[in-house]
Amino acid sequence: MNEASVPEENVTFPEVARFEVREYCADGGFAFGSLLQLCGGLGVVGIILGAIAHFVGQYFWFILIFPALIGLGVGGAGAVLLRKLRVRNPIICSFAGLAAGVFAMTTMHYLDYRAFNDRMTGAMGAEQLDFIRQVAVNIEQFQQDRENLPEDLQLLVDDLLADPEALKVFQVNSFPAFMNYSAELGVELSHRGRKGMNLGYTGSIIYWLVEMLIVAGLGFVLMSSAAAQPFCVACHEWKKEKEYGPIPPLCNPQESLKEGRVLKYPIRGDNDPVQPGDWNVQLWTCDDCEGESGVDVILRLISIDDNKAVQYKDVEKISYPAEAVAPLVYALTRDEPAKGESAAAAEQEEDESQQA
Ligand SMILES: [Zn+2]
Repeated sequence: MNEASVPEENVTFPEVARFEVREYCADGGFAFGSLLQLCGGLGVVGIILGAIAHFVGQYFWFILIFPALIGLGVGGAGAVLLRKLRVRNPIICSFAGLAAGVFAMTTMHYLDYRAFNDRMTGAMGAEQLDFIRQVAVNIEQFQQDRENLPEDLQLLVDDLLADPEALKVFQVNSFPAFMNYSAELGVELSHRGRKGMNLGYTGSIIYWLVEMLIVAGLGFVLMSSAAAQPFCVACHEWKKEKEYGPIPPLCNPQESLKEGRVLKYPIRGDNDPVQPGDWNVQLWTCDDCEGESGVDVILRLISIDDNKAVQYKDVEKISYPAEAVAPLVYALTRDEPAKGESAAAAEQEEDESQQA
């Protein structure tokens, strides 16, 4: 490639076309029946993920990582569901994701409670367990009435009073009581199989809330962004995106695109790797009506993280009219000639560069 093809700092970019544009706004629509189906589907997702978390959690648990995975599961499944059901309301979907996350984690704790109950029942039988629990829960009354009780009951009361740990276990007669008991035991953080710090009562409750917040937060964010994606109301179908760029940082397309001015932007070639600060443009159009319903432009700023993975950040979302599709594609495509002459020139240039 010769030097002449590299754009210089003071280059001005020719205007291709100008359009009336408006800020992109998510469609927001949904059918009530579809919303109910979405909620039902999220309920099933919550139960499945909660059950998996409960099962895995019996053996090991990676703090923060597991909740993040569950959150990605809730949000990812929720995004797939809402796309299938065409629910496009970001506010409703974000709260549905939040609720699904809370539900998944509650399911996990509830199944832990059920397993605890099963172990207790298995050890002493349901009737016996119920009986001891009743005594344990009302231990103070039984203690006051001790003299009037039959002898075996007196013995039971004495045994329970003598062993506060056992008393606590038998006082667990409900799900909230189980959570309270678990907090009293405290969440123990282990490191490489060794026992570690016990978080204590308050610490454990905060820890569970943080876990729930991670799961619910991911459900919230992922479902909200999926629901906000461009949608063609006329065809009742999601639009599809095509990627353009990267545009090097010397040309900031934000101002012009926002104003509806489409310029012939410089685009990096195949041998010109993407750099931090570059711009990427998504054009969202509907295949069914071939862009009749307009094109949504999402301008994204590129960064490169520590693992050399390219990251995108949405900077601007603008809705262009249907006529803008062709000029936008032209403006955002590298070296695509507008006239026959320049096409021949470009081909010639390409030939030369191949020979060189
Ligand atoms: Zn359409």
